[in-house]
Amino acid sequence: MFVDSHVNLHGDKFAGELPQIFERAEAANVSAMLNICCNIKDVSATIKVCEGRDNLWASVGTHPHDAKDNPDITAADLLAHTDHPKVIGIGETGLDFHYNFSDRTPQLHNFQAHIEAVRESGLPLIIHSRNADIEMAEILTREMKKGEFKALLHCYTSGEKLARTAAELGCYFSMSGIITFKNAHEVRDIASWLPEDRIMIETDCPYLAPVPHRGRRCEPSMVPLVAEKLAEIRGWTIEETAQKTTDAFYIFFDKAKRPA
Ligand SMILES: [Zn+2]
Repeated sequence: MFVDSHVNLHGDKFAGELPQIFERAEAANVSAMLNICCNIKDVSATIKVCEGRDNLWASVGTHPHDAKDNPDITAADLLAHTDHPKVIGIGETGLDFHYNFSDRTPQLHNFQAHIEAVRESGLPLIIHSRNADIEMAEILTREMKKGEFKALLHCYTSGEKLARTAAELGCYFSMSGIITFKNAHEVRDIASWLPEDRIMIETDCPYLAPVPHRGRRCEPSMVPLVAEKLAEIRGWTIEETAQKTTDAFYIFFDKAKRPA
């Protein structure tokens, strides 16, 4: 059984097709998924997809791309949604200095508000980081010193130095279809040495379909392809990979009840 730790199912890309998407996921042994909120204004839509479905969870947060929409966001704005039984994490938040769809000021402000909400709620933090290795390492180091919290660097594509710093700070990591891409040597190298009990897998669907589906719409039924590649990198069997990445998910997102 696999867990897809990062999906985006409430957007237009899957509209009207969710029953088939869930059917194919089940057929591929994908037993649980976390539907990620990328803009706090979409939190109801994010949760709605999960209602009435076991093992489908939601987060609350605002992506760094959308930080400009919520320049004054507070921890309280996020905490208003964390009591919902489906909400098991806060994010995704973080820094994206590659696309720079939002200026740095709202990105940094949003990230800080999410960290405060995590400390207050005890829920774990889902982090997106791109072209921001130095700033991310600085913020994580500083904030963990102020008060530790659980943090996951999702769809890891940053450099080795940030990975080492984050690993030392106790962070978790999630690998996406990118580890199957031909030129992703550095990410594969990082995936080979990360702490074995702190790695998850994800599709980040509808983006980043793993090889051989690269360029097509991605969906949760493709997460076993990420697991296969991770197994190859780590020298694990596919069963060990499923077990370790699933264990990591339920230990990290401990509000999610594990199916018996
Ligand atoms: Zn992301």
